[in-house]
Amino acid sequence: MKQTIIFKKESLNDAAAVLSKGGIVAFPTETVYGLGAVATNKDAVTKVFDAKMRPSFDPLIVHVYDRSQILPLISGEIPELALKLMDEFWPGPLTIILPKSDIVPDVVTSGLDTVALRQPNHPIAQELIRLTGHPVAAPSANLFSRTSPTSAAAVLDMLDGRIDGVVDEGECEIGIESTVITFCEPVPTLLRPGGISRAQIESIIGSIVVLGSLEKKSSAPGRSLRHYAPPCPMYLDLPESKMDKSNAGQICFTADQAIEGFEHCIVLAPNGDPREAAHNLYSALRTLGAIGLTAIYAVTLPEDGVGAAVNDRLRRASVNGFEGMSQE
Ligand code: AMP
Ligand code: MG
Repeated sequence: MKQTIIFKKESLNDAAAVLSKGGIVAFPTETVYGLGAVATNKDAVTKVFDAKMRPSFDPLIVHVYDRSQILPLISGEIPELALKLMDEFWPGPLTIILPKSDIVPDVVTSGLDTVALRQPNHPIAQELIRLTGHPVAAPSANLFSRTSPTSAAAVLDMLDGRIDGVVDEGECEIGIESTVITFCEPVPTLLRPGGISRAQIESIIGSIVVLGSLEKKSSAPGRSLRHYAPPCPMYLDLPESKMDKSNAGQICFTADQAIEGFEHCIVLAPNGDPREAAHNLYSALRTLGAIGLTAIYAVTLPEDGVGAAVNDRLRRASVNGFEGMSQE
């Protein structure tokens, strides 16, 4: 066990020094907390996989503090449509996949010849990457297949003693991971719904292809079926007659969906805003997951906007058993 240092924004320089020297440090972004390592340092990136117990076939997103930092990481020009999305949504919760250059180690991309890139819109993340002086590869700072952390406490719950440090700067605003879109297919393809919706993207670049939540594709690795999972079975949109309410919990979108008889019920968005539901989703899964319940019953959201991203996480969290992991 190593000692995990807790950094505050006043000690960002120290956190950056740990990263520059090949250490691994978790930090907040506007989506979820990431676990960072200098992206061009193969040994540091390997430590991220080890700490998370993440399988080597699940590639990482490389974070930059400004757009010029991506140029050495990619091969060829940035496609025009990708540039348009960057103009509109960077910095922000949108990850763009492009062909990679040789300086990106294979361990980052799981051997693919493409690299995932994002400029986060969080002052701490931006400043930490700038101070580190290198792009920072950072997957979500959770143990593999578990719920992504939206606070430093949630990071420490899973990774205390396994990582060099965590920058503790409050809760993440968006609360679910970035949208992932690839420009390495004949038509731009959305691989993961997230903070930026399909409609927002299509309003800028026209129609795109969207991969379904539980659909498989060889150029879209790391989409484990069972993901974001609480430690007990979870069921979606079941009729009340099929629910066993003893020692079970409920997660609903709005208060009118709450069913009587559950001792534990969390309403994700009392005001009916799907963005509020996204913000609260992972802490709800963590809270109910920590009680030792026999089951969680959840209700999906309307599919539009960020609702699609919340539903994607709910579907993966409710792939019960571990059979989904072997289908990678
Ligand atoms: P995380 O940072 O934990 O939210 O996970 C990053 C996710 O981005 C991975 O699980 C993949 O689904 C996706 N990803 C990263 N790099 C690539 C890539 N080169 N090609 C396709 N998907 C990628
Ligand atoms: Mg993740």
